[in-house]
Amino acid sequence: MSQNSLRLVWVYPDLLSTYGDQGNALVLERRALQRRLDVQRVDVRSDQPIPTSGDIYLIGGGEDRPQRLAAERLRRDGGLNRAVANGAIVFSVCAGYQILGHEFINDLGQREQGLGLLDVVSTRGEGERCVGDVLADIDAPLGLPPLTGFENHQGVTHLGPTARPFARVQFGQGNGTGDGTEGAYNETVFGTYMHGPVMARNPHIADLLIKLALDVNALPPVDDRWYDALRAERIAAASQPA
Ligand code: GLN
Repeated sequence: MSQNSLRLVWVYPDLLSTYGDQGNALVLERRALQRRLDVQRVDVRSDQPIPTSGDIYLIGGGEDRPQRLAAERLRRDGGLNRAVANGAIVFSVCAGYQILGHEFINDLGQREQGLGLLDVVSTRGEGERCVGDVLADIDAPLGLPPLTGFENHQGVTHLGPTARPFARVQFGQGNGTGDGTEGAYNETVFGTYMHGPVMARNPHIADLLIKLALDVNALPPVDDRWYDALRAERIAAASQPA
C-alpha cells in the first residue's frame, strides 16, 4: 500500500457495536488523520459484502443472537478471510473476538463455527458472567503501556498454540479461563474482551494497528493529554477494591 493512505473497514455496525465499540473506528480514523494520512473509512452493514482491499478491519461486540447472525454472514461472505490472506490487519472485541476463533457457543446453546483467523476456541463459562473494569499488562513484545477496559461476557476463550495472549490481567477476568490471559493475537489479527471503547482508553493500540498497516516503526507524536487523563482515572477506578 501507499505510505500515506489508509482504508479502514468497520464490519457490521448494525450487529456488532455494543458498549461504545464504534468509538474504536472514530479513534482510529482520528489518529490516522492527525498523522496526515489520507483515510477512507467504510462501514459495512451485514447485508453488504465485505471489501477485501481494506488495510485495517474492526469488528465489535454484540449480544448472543446478533453474534450468531454475524458469524453466519461472515462465513458465507468469505471476504474477511480473503482480506487477512492479503495481509490486512484485524482488531476484534468480545463477540467479534469469539467469531474470529475456531468456534463459540451460540444463543441456541450450540457450537457455532467461527472464521478460524485466531487460534482460539470459546466455550460458555459455567460461573458468573465476567463484568467489570479490567487492568492488564499487554504482551511485552508489543511494547505498549497497560491496557484498561470494561468487560461483559459469558463466553470463556481458550488459546491454542499459535495464538499469543494479548495481555495478562492485574484486575478482572479477561479470557475467563483462570490463567490470567486477556485476548489473543497473531501477526495480523487481534482479539480482546475490552470494551470501553478500548481505543479511547488505549490510543496506543490504534497507533500499533496503523504502524502495522503502514509497515513503519514509528508515527509522529500527537497530543495525548485527554487520553492520559481518562486512562489515569480508569486505572484508579479499576484498582479500587469493589
Ligand atoms: N455474547 C458473547 C458473550 O457473552 C459476547 C458478549 C459481548 O460482545 N459483550 O460471551
